[in-house]
Amino acid sequence: MNNFSAYEIPFLGLKVGIHDYEFELKETFFEAFEHSQIEQANLTANVKLDKQSSMMVVDFHLSGTVGAICDRCGVAFDLPVEYDDRLIVKFGDVTGTTDDEILVLGTEVHLLELHQYLYEYAHLAVPSKTAHPDEEDCDQEALNLLENLRPGDDDDDDIDPRWDALKGLK
Ligand SMILES: [Zn+2]
Repeated sequence: MNNFSAYEIPFLGLKVGIHDYEFELKETFFEAFEHSQIEQANLTANVKLDKQSSMMVVDFHLSGTVGAICDRCGVAFDLPVEYDDRLIVKFGDVTGTTDDEILVLGTEVHLLELHQYLYEYAHLAVPSKTAHPDEEDCDQEALNLLENLRPGDDDDDDIDPRWDALKGLK
C-alpha cells in the first residue's frame, strides 16, 4: 500500500483565508505510481490554498528538475521545469469531479488529497520532446557518434546500385 499521507491537507480545521504549503517530489514519490514516466526528480510544489466558506481555490507552482534523456545526444540530464495549475474545490453532498474539472468534496471528506494532482502536474510540466536547453551542453562525443551512425546522412546509401557494379570493374 502506498502512503501519501504527506500529501494531504486536513482542511476542515483551516480558517478562511490563504494557507501555504510546500511538498517535495522526488524519486520515491514517483516510484509509488505504476505508470510514472518520471523516475528521477527534484521538484518542489508550492501550494497556496485559499479557503472560502463554500469552496477552496488551490494554486500549484511546481519547479525544479526532472531526469530526462536528451533527444539530441541521447544522454541523461536534469531538465529544469516549471508548471502552474489551479484546482477548484467545492463543498457538496457527494464526492466527485464535475465536467469542468471542479473537485466536489462530500461532507464525509476531511482531507484534501493532492498526490494524484501533483503527479499529473509534474508530468504536464515535462515537454514531450526533451533536450539540453543549449546544444553546447550536449555530450559532443555522443553527438559525433550519432552523426556517424545516422543512415540518411551517408550519401553512399542513396547511390545508384549500378555505380557499385562499376566500382567492381576497377
Ligand atoms: Zn544533449
